Amino acid sequence: MSDAGTAARILIVEDNDKNMKLARDILQAQGYATLEAVTGEEGVRLAREHVPDLVLMDIQLPGINGIEALRQLRADAATAAIPVVAVTASVMQTDRREITAAGFDGYIGKPISLKPFIETVRGHVKGK
Ligand code: MN
Repeated sequence: MSDAGTAARILIVEDNDKNMKLARDILQAQGYATLEAVTGEEGVRLAREHVPDLVLMDIQLPGINGIEALRQLRADAATAAIPVVAVTASVMQTDRREITAAGFDGYIGKPISLKPFIETVRGHVKGK
């Protein structure tokens, strides 16, 4: 949470309705404010507009994927410092290596598991 009593804002970039609803419900129940994008392009645009405290980024998205969206966020001084956590079902070792190499701040596996999800989010908005 930020000072001044305002909730930390978390941008969820996710094209699957069920996953979006689950992430939104968990985050809002924890007192976070959420922003939502269903494509990487929209996610980058919302991140520039709102500069959220954290971005939760799906990898497989229509249009640009989450790795390209991360690259665009890092390339822009306005969004470069926002923590970005990958949220993906990619379990193969090569995929995980690619995600780590891309420069994500963290990784959450799907299906989302409540406790690790909350702990990872909390860890990345800590100090807010
Ligand atoms: Mn997806």
